[in-house]
Amino acid sequence: MKPIAIAADSGTRGVKMKKSRFSDQLQSELDYNLEICILASGSRGNAVYVSDGSTSILIDAGLSGIEIERRLNSKGLYPEDLNAIIVSHEHTDHIQGVGVLSRRFNLPVFMSSKTEKAAVSKLGNVRVIKNFECGSPFIINDLSIHPFSISHDAEDPSGFTVNQNGTKIAIATDLGIATSMVKEHLKGCSLLILEANHDEDMLINGPYPWPIKQRIKGRTGHLSNEASKNLLKEVQHDRLKYVILAHLSETNNTPQKALSEVGRAMSHCNAQLDVATQDKCGALLRLK
Ligand SMILES: [Zn+2]
Ligand SMILES: [Zn+2]
Repeated sequence: MKPIAIAADSGTRGVKMKKSRFSDQLQSELDYNLEICILASGSRGNAVYVSDGSTSILIDAGLSGIEIERRLNSKGLYPEDLNAIIVSHEHTDHIQGVGVLSRRFNLPVFMSSKTEKAAVSKLGNVRVIKNFECGSPFIINDLSIHPFSISHDAEDPSGFTVNQNGTKIAIATDLGIATSMVKEHLKGCSLLILEANHDEDMLINGPYPWPIKQRIKGRTGHLSNEASKNLLKEVQHDRLKYVILAHLSETNNTPQKALSEVGRAMSHCNAQLDVATQDKCGALLRLK
């Protein structure tokens, strides 16, 4: 499907660019198609930075604006260089900082119209909102972004792939089940950010009230370690470089359990497996 162009509103942002900040470094360090940093992941806030060196976006901004700025700065990144914020769904852990950042840095916010309706009262005054449709790819400068529907208890939740010059990454968190459509989108990626929310035994035997346990386990809840493992089994391939497990529950999971369960899926690739955490941003990863 040919992506439609949705202009990111500022004509100058697309050419400012981060690559110039690295002009004194080796060219080989600049030779990447995409760089990615998970700023935070979990039920207290989610944000992923994605850039091709010229165009930079946040996918979700679910921490306070100041905390997102602090975490970007800790990696030598600057919110002034962002071109847009893309929103997956209206839950607070994905939009808490969207309004503030968009106002402070004059950023357009991309989300579906149903998500906009559900989120608008929480965002405050956002100057430019651009609507995408799940299933229809769009481009921001050279980044091609393909939102796809996921099964989650929000109005119109979406996962995303981002593609630049043939390098593709996917973000799939906040989904109760992995549909065949989700699996199709996750194929052929160099990097996967994949939900591994809970260990099923820890959830069942844990402290949450039964209705919340049911919500998390349900078709519109969150993927367990085991479901994540089964999904990865189907979408792994020998060019997959990174799998980052995300949206881990701090009550019903541990990084060790997630890594060991999902790691058992990886029979056909040598991808680096890691977990994203709530309180610290992850490494800045570059993909060619
Ligand atoms: Zn969430
Ligand atoms: Zn959610």
